[in-house]
Amino acid sequence: MPLRGTQLYLEIDAGVIHDKDGRLIAVVETLRDMTLRQSAESRLRTMFESSPDPVWIIEDDRFVECNDAAVSILGYSSKGEFLNTHPSQLSPPVQPDGEDSFTKAQRMLSLAREKGLHRFEWVHTRANGANFTAEVTLSSIDLGGRQAIYCAWRDISDRKRAEEALRLYAKVFENSGEAILITDRDNRIVAVNNALVRDTGYTQEDLLGKDPRVLSSHKTPPETYRAMWAALNESGYWQGELWDLRKDGVTYPKWAAISAVSDEKGGRTNYIASFTDISDRKAAEAKIDHLAHHDALTGLFNRYNLESRLGQSLLAARRETGLMAVMFIDLDRFKVINDTLGHHVGDLLLVEVARRLGDCVRESDIVARLGGDEFVVALTSLASDMDAVTIAAKILAALGRPCTVEGKVLHTTPSIGISLFPANGDDSDTLMKNADTAMYYAKEKGRNNFQFFSPAMTAAASERMELERDMLGALAAGEYELHYQPQVCTKDGHVVGVEALIRWRHPERGLIPPMKFIPIAEETGVIEAIGSWVLEEACRQQARWREEGFGKLRMAVNLSAYQLRSPTLLTQVRAAMEANGIGPDELELEVTESAAMEDPERAIGRLKALRDMGVGLAIDDFGTGYSSLAYLKLLPIDTLKLDRAFVRDIETDENDAAISAATLALARNLGLKVVAEGVETEAQRAFLAKHDCDLLQGYLFGKPELAAVWTERWQALKR
Ligand code: C2E
Ligand code: MG
Ligand code: MG
Repeated sequence: MPLRGTQLYLEIDAGVIHDKDGRLIAVVETLRDMTLRQSAESRLRTMFESSPDPVWIIEDDRFVECNDAAVSILGYSSKGEFLNTHPSQLSPPVQPDGEDSFTKAQRMLSLAREKGLHRFEWVHTRANGANFTAEVTLSSIDLGGRQAIYCAWRDISDRKRAEEALRLYAKVFENSGEAILITDRDNRIVAVNNALVRDTGYTQEDLLGKDPRVLSSHKTPPETYRAMWAALNESGYWQGELWDLRKDGVTYPKWAAISAVSDEKGGRTNYIASFTDISDRKAAEAKIDHLAHHDALTGLFNRYNLESRLGQSLLAARRETGLMAVMFIDLDRFKVINDTLGHHVGDLLLVEVARRLGDCVRESDIVARLGGDEFVVALTSLASDMDAVTIAAKILAALGRPCTVEGKVLHTTPSIGISLFPANGDDSDTLMKNADTAMYYAKEKGRNNFQFFSPAMTAAASERMELERDMLGALAAGEYELHYQPQVCTKDGHVVGVEALIRWRHPERGLIPPMKFIPIAEETGVIEAIGSWVLEEACRQQARWREEGFGKLRMAVNLSAYQLRSPTLLTQVRAAMEANGIGPDELELEVTESAAMEDPERAIGRLKALRDMGVGLAIDDFGTGYSSLAYLKLLPIDTLKLDRAFVRDIETDENDAAISAATLALARNLGLKVVAEGVETEAQRAFLAKHDCDLLQGYLFGKPELAAVWTERWQALKR
């Protein structure tokens, strides 16, 4: 029962009652309490009216009701303006799918009636004529027994635009010619585009979830990556060159631009990197660089690059106190060839000359063409000034060979001028100028030769060349002779053996010591023949002394590095011994430390084989090379020859005394015998005796002499 004073909504049904004459006699009223129902309806109406989303009621395909939001969003001033209109009247004539608005609206409404609920997109027109896309939801409702449609909609233009933009971005991403890679905040790859797949050879699956590092090669310097991350952290952007590795293992350079993407709060969400393969650009750059620095005809360095290279090499040579040589090379009679046979033939000849020059020098040397028929060769690391002679001779021979160009045999010879660093100049200008001057000396001397800037050097060089030339005939002419120097037992001073030392009795120059011609013989290979003669001659002499009744004298013979490399060494030694009846314990071969170290594996093999024949082996000049005790232990030797340099200063230099003493101790430890070289004084002898040196050799006991001298001396002793 409602309380007194509260409001009631009543529904009244009134019926009139008439009498038979038609007069009103009563009114019957039925009252129904509608309070509850009325409040529900008003709440609904309030909701309908105040909804921020536009809402319509459609009955019989016409708008019959709408809320204020619908009015304002469509841009009208009152509901009256479009109530009772058909939905298609508030739309463009045709919808984006091509269906005309009226038919489509009818279709949508009947779908809603059928299914009870239907949602779709619809393009509406505002009062001002502008179109927009709405997402429309139609629900079928019962309005007091009549079927109606409740239509709610929302302007989704912004969302549409965003979707459209996203689609566009995706297209750009996919179709970009640049390779693009996107990573998440942890730098894991979340997307790569087609161009990246194409450029790297990896598939999407290979890369997604990985660190972009999988693409990198070791060619990119670590500093580049450090700089990249520093820039990304600092400014969110970096660009630069990276070297990457394709899936097929090929490295390639790429230009990378990387941006960090942040959210509103400034936290990193992604990194976007775009790359362009710059292999082609790099190749083009390299080509341009080559053209700028090289002579177009021959591919050699040009003058500009020669100067910078020479400058660099000189810097290095100064730092390492190295020796260098600069050669100016001018082709003799080139002008004649050019003028008579034409430039084309001249050019081809120059190309051939360039090729031959390249063959004469090492990779690290510089070969340049200054223009015309002028070439420059810079030898960058010489062991000795004389090495320049070897190369100059090689160039003379190489360029002097006839050259066939287009069926014509051409003869040209070079004139070479040489300046030496540091002897003839400290900078490239001076060295070039002096080499040029020397080249004119060569022209004056009648071409087809080389001249040094300093005449003394030229004299030394020509001596060397003459020796080299004469050496070939010297063996046949019997100009070599062996001198013998005794080795004596430290304890009692009796002669145990002799060392054979070669000399060259030159018809014009007189007696030449081995150090003057053995190195040349080594370089030219003549040592092979000389060495085998020494072996035979030493063994022959040994046999003679035995026949003459001097008993067993051990013979020491020096081997050069070249001989140690020679595969015929073993047969040579065996033949010499057999031919002269020399027992294995009567021969000792001396090898210098540096020769044994040149190719230790092979040397060890060779020496072992000799040792197996019973031949004694000694390390000569011990202590002067890069003595490696580890190797020394591996070498199958029985004797160390303590170098003269130590023995000489034993009395005055504590260091040398210590080294000599240590060597003797070491040798004893390794079970080796020691021969001290160059013993000249009684004090030296005493020192060596005190430290248990086994054998002594030196002027104190006898200089190297011809065999006949010793025979006579020993015979005199016997008498
Ligand atoms: P080496 O084998 O160390 O020979 C010892 C050198 O010291 C010899 O010089 C000898 O004359 C010299 N000598 C000996 N005792 C004394 C001394 O008391 N005082 C001084 N100042 N010198 C002394 P040589 O004969 O001029 O030989 C020099 C080098 O030439 C030898 O050094 C050896 O390495 C090499 N050689 C000599 N003959 C041959 C050979 O037939 N074949 C090869 N491959 N090299 C040889
Ligand atoms: Mg020797
Ligand atoms: Mg020696």
